[in-house]
Amino acid sequence: MLRTLFVFSEMVPYSKTGGLADVGGALPLALRQLGAEVRVLVPYYGCPATGDMRWCCAVNVPYTGETAELWSPVGEAQILFLRYPAYYERDGGPYQDTQGEDWPDNDRRFALLNRVAVEIAQGRVSGLNWRPDIVHANDWQTGLIPYLLDLEARIGAARPAVLFTIHNLAYQGRFAPGAMAPLHLPAADFHWLGTELYGAFSFMKAGLAYSDQITTVSPTYAEEIQSSAFGMGLDGLLQTRSEHLSGILNGIDAIHWNPGADPYLPAHYSLQDRLGKAQCKAQLQSSLGLRPDPHVFLLGMISRLVEQKGTDMVLDILPDLLRRGMQVVVLGSGDKSFERQLLEMAAAHPTQMVARITFDEGLSHRIEAGADAFLMPSRFEPCGLNQMYSLRYGTLPIVHRTGGLADTVTDADDFRHPLQRNGFVFDRPHSDALHDAVLRAEALFRQPALWSHLQDQAMAGDYSWQHSARAYLQLYHEVLARRAGGH
Ligand code: ADP
Repeated sequence: MLRTLFVFSEMVPYSKTGGLADVGGALPLALRQLGAEVRVLVPYYGCPATGDMRWCCAVNVPYTGETAELWSPVGEAQILFLRYPAYYERDGGPYQDTQGEDWPDNDRRFALLNRVAVEIAQGRVSGLNWRPDIVHANDWQTGLIPYLLDLEARIGAARPAVLFTIHNLAYQGRFAPGAMAPLHLPAADFHWLGTELYGAFSFMKAGLAYSDQITTVSPTYAEEIQSSAFGMGLDGLLQTRSEHLSGILNGIDAIHWNPGADPYLPAHYSLQDRLGKAQCKAQLQSSLGLRPDPHVFLLGMISRLVEQKGTDMVLDILPDLLRRGMQVVVLGSGDKSFERQLLEMAAAHPTQMVARITFDEGLSHRIEAGADAFLMPSRFEPCGLNQMYSLRYGTLPIVHRTGGLADTVTDADDFRHPLQRNGFVFDRPHSDALHDAVLRAEALFRQPALWSHLQDQAMAGDYSWQHSARAYLQLYHEVLARRAGGH
């Protein structure tokens, strides 16, 4: 049986700042269902959802002298919480303080996670008595793992294979070059095929440079990041590693996101019977103070309110959409100026627009169910989850053709793939192109038979993790075979 150690910096239901945590909660489970033996290492941030925990063992970290502890939720020995209260159990988020500033010691905090992962990977944690065949690291917070394993191999130690997944290349874990020495990392590796990125020491760069295989979360993003437009300064390195770079689309948690049984919804529905969706729309409108009208075109958006997500493009076109009588519900938080502009626009159109600047799981489900269409004009999108939730809920996504959006949404006018049409796709990341797409969507909404046909195709898609998990499993075997063959 294949043994995999996953390392995440956040994981549903214990901690979450974005889609990475959703993957942490779902992919290990899906792999286990395929027969893999999977353990997950994740820092413990002091989360109330954890319930009772059981102490597992202490881990002495080489060089730094830190002693961390591993704990598991009762009944879930495969989850390993890394406990080091001085680093992780603080007021604030996993990466930032309550003011939204990065923790100044993020290099040390995540280096500890990486060192402990390596101790487990090398079978040196005696309390565990377990050693993986493959380590699956995720995003910059785990980028030193491939590097540390490479350092071990240089002195002759056997090491497991290591796969590094990019969930978002924009966050690179950059620190001053001087941060390497206190972490006991050799200065000789600070070069362009090592840990150096434009003069900085980068955890992400280390992950990309030293892993056996790199994946990212959609096939299109895997291509895009090898270009200067999307490569965030790492395209050169990624090109040199293109033979060992591939994209596997994320899935969604199909139990949590199921319109047929979603506990957050006032009514349930399915592909065969969408009556409940109309009730969800009516309830969304009345609960938010929007004019209750089944015929008005209702757009939803749930997003971090940042430039990446195209919030500025939405702000550009909102006045015209509202003038045309559409309704818009936005849920999210982020850039203060975007938040303020959205709130001002909503205040000026109380029966047509709502902006909720908060994180609200229940409302996010009710928007996915109650809206007619979903706005997701991201400039880049490694995979994206909300467009898949939308598809599953029969809420047609309006997206920019990029990354995972391009891989999951097929335009209503795509004549080459008529059986896959399930939304609206525009090519240029500009407000005008988004505007055209929204108007095309509204025009189709006015033709119920055509709209309903698109909803059928959207809801019939398979967005489950099984598909992705199978692809990862196959890749693990390929990587192991390649290493066994000495390549
Ligand atoms: P990213 O990870 O770049 O933020 P994704 O689409 O991959 O984008 O994942 C975002 C996740 O966070 C989704 O599960 C989405 O529903 C959720 N989310 C984002 N903002 C909010 C919010 N304000 N309230 C509730 N859920 C949110």
